[in-house]
Amino acid sequence: MGDCIFCKIIEGKMNAEKVYEDERIVAVRDIAPVSPLHLLIMPKKHVVNLLDLQPEDGSLVGHIFRVAAHLAREAGFADSGFRIVNNNNAGAGQSVFHLHFHLLAGRQMHWPPG
Ligand code: 5GP
Ligand code: ZN
Repeated sequence: MGDCIFCKIIEGKMNAEKVYEDERIVAVRDIAPVSPLHLLIMPKKHVVNLLDLQPEDGSLVGHIFRVAAHLAREAGFADSGFRIVNNNNAGAGQSVFHLHFHLLAGRQMHWPPG
């Protein structure tokens, strides 16, 4: 997608600190972290948000969650806890319209989220 900043990151046309990549997804450090660990895990395919998932994307979100758990464990936050956040559309706080999951860890989380 031409003007999508996450597509540009995925294609290497924009800088980001990649911490994980496979054939389907990438994980990068958020440019404005809100916790000591703040990663964005996203499909390489341009999907707007969960509302845009297609039947052929069946295993994609499960794969993202498995990699999220792997990255949380690898960073040492399996026991202390971590949170996955996914915002869908502006009213929920989505500001980049390429599906992504925030992986947050390293501080006490509160409930309900804001
Ligand atoms: P959203 O608000 O859509 O749920 O999350 C978008 C996230 O992308 C925000 O946490 C924001 O800090 C992050 N972000 C925006 N632009 C960039 C960028 O150019 N590089 C990186 N690494 N993160 C970005
Ligand atoms: Zn995109």
